[in-house]
Amino acid sequence: MSYVGPDSDGFFDGDGPRRPRRFSGGPLTVALAALVPTALAGWLIWQVVGGPGENEPAKTLPAASQSSTAGADTTSPSPSKSDDGKKGDASPSAAPSKSKPPASSSKSAGSGPLKGKVVVIDPGHNPGNFQHAAEINRLVDIGTNRKECDTTGTSTNAGYTEAQFTLDVSRRLRTLLQQQGATVELTQNGDRSWGPCVDERARIGNKAHADAVISVHADGSAAGNRGFHVILPASVNSGSADTTAIAGPSRDLGERVAGNFLRATGSAPSNYIGGGTGLDVRKDLGGLNLSTQPKVFIECGNMRDAKDAALLTSGAWRQKAAQGMSDGIVSFLHG
Ligand SMILES: [Zn+2]
Repeated sequence: MSYVGPDSDGFFDGDGPRRPRRFSGGPLTVALAALVPTALAGWLIWQVVGGPGENEPAKTLPAASQSSTAGADTTSPSPSKSDDGKKGDASPSAAPSKSKPPASSSKSAGSGPLKGKVVVIDPGHNPGNFQHAAEINRLVDIGTNRKECDTTGTSTNAGYTEAQFTLDVSRRLRTLLQQQGATVELTQNGDRSWGPCVDERARIGNKAHADAVISVHADGSAAGNRGFHVILPASVNSGSADTTAIAGPSRDLGERVAGNFLRATGSAPSNYIGGGTGLDVRKDLGGLNLSTQPKVFIECGNMRDAKDAALLTSGAWRQKAAQGMSDGIVSFLHG
């Protein structure tokens, strides 16, 4: 498809070729893979709400420095083929009252439980990448090797692009986190014509000394493949990539995001990646390899599946998705 980036295998969302289907081992994970999704759902929720015997260590994150914003808000480009909002509002009655992206500053100096915390949100891809093939195809150093600067991302069959989706969800998430008092920075906010490159996306989180970073995506897999998954950084120490210090905290962040995303949206963990856990571990993503801060990706659903697309194109659902991510991040930062 013309939307698929050059480093994509043609199905997935352009974040790079998949390594062989394998998720991190360990007895717990292996055992979980044998469970039905509903049981996993319970497990994930139990994880994030802190069931008895929770072994997550209390966090004592230092106060992070304040960071500057990524730029002024601008209106997202609106390609004519968007099917946004025309279908998929399966649960309008459950929709939060506020469903429009904010037009406020991306910086917060507010009070609240996340006061002093810095969160960087990375809206995957860029709506303008389609018009800048030369720029985004340039190879950049991702620590372990070289890879395309960025990719176009995928879209629904009706033309709602992943880049539109990620920007919308990211803005909603920013608002929710700001309401908790966090300082929030976006890596791009529809305020640049393409990119940034994946290495720059990582550096933005690093320079902000972010307490948590989340890269928002939606997948482009085969129809019938459904559900969300959170991508965790493998422990990599090669070249300029060293994720050994963030792999553990990132897993904690990712598990909390996955559990809260499940609870907020009602979506099931992916039925095609992660063995039903909703978690995947990768070592081929520059945005993770180059991060020095706890960071995860989330693939919110499969844009090429009609049922998932109906959700992804619903503003009410996107608000739930943002709420789930926010709850996960809040949980992680509170410990
Ligand atoms: Zn993507």
